[in-house]
Amino acid sequence: MLRGLYKLTGVVLGSLVLQSCNNFSNSALGSQTIDSIFNKDKHTLASRPVLHDKWDSLRKNLIVFKVDSLNPVDIKIQRKRLKDSLRREFDKKPKHIYLTFDDGPLVGSKAIDSIARVKNVKVNAFVVGRHATMGKTRQRDLNRYVENPLVAVYNHSYTHGFNRLTSFYANSDNAFEDFKKNEEQVQLSAKIARLPGRNIWIYDKERKIDIPSAAPTADKLFADGYKVFGWDVEWRLDGYTGNPNIPLETVFHRIVNFMNNKSSREPNNVVFLMHDNMFQTKKGQKLLGDLIDSLKKMDYKFEFMEDYPIKY
Ligand SMILES: [Zn+2]
Repeated sequence: MLRGLYKLTGVVLGSLVLQSCNNFSNSALGSQTIDSIFNKDKHTLASRPVLHDKWDSLRKNLIVFKVDSLNPVDIKIQRKRLKDSLRREFDKKPKHIYLTFDDGPLVGSKAIDSIARVKNVKVNAFVVGRHATMGKTRQRDLNRYVENPLVAVYNHSYTHGFNRLTSFYANSDNAFEDFKKNEEQVQLSAKIARLPGRNIWIYDKERKIDIPSAAPTADKLFADGYKVFGWDVEWRLDGYTGNPNIPLETVFHRIVNFMNNKSSREPNNVVFLMHDNMFQTKKGQKLLGDLIDSLKKMDYKFEFMEDYPIKY
């Protein structure tokens, strides 16, 4: 959990000085190392995923603290200072937002496709192939997605388990085959999936499971070469009225807070979940446009999930 920062070599405590090399030795500095900070109270810290691998990318910028032996600071303050200093470094780097839309093609998909073009932002569609068989309009919506270079189309299973998710995941072979059928029918090229109704992440060395009964399906997808992604922040709108469950300003601030969080899974990367059927009304569509404008003002970069996580 804290392994990333454990590995930081040459890190000592005190007021912050940044250096661009990586060849200090702890003994040369004769000071307390980051290992010793975390090992001291590892029993209490072990369960807290505070600082981990993702923060490794700052290792190139060696962080050196001067020790003030007359005023020793306690371990929590030391840890907070380190986190604050890492966050300050991340705040100088670009920040990446992943707009993801689930369950298309549905009424609302056409609007998402147009908004992506008008606003010129990348978006991610996790599609359910069976929905394209529900009429020519839905097939056309899917084709629009596939043809739009600003839309990345990914796998959300063929049937969505007919919304009976407990029985869907109870047979992981069938569930896996359902994803493979979607891959074939929609002719998906990127091996990126999201499980219906489950916030599960399996990619690189990460494995985060919210509901264990769906884990065997996710593991089979991963073994097949897929990266499985959940979400960090979600927004819901009533498809028929366009009324959001939480106001635009609130969800916007949730994204900003998550982006600036000192303990986030992947610093400076936020995956945002919405659903295609939220954008059936002009009101809903305007909210999406306004949200994108607000994110643009923050200078966030709009990204495809296949590039997640973007590191430095
Ligand atoms: Zn879904």
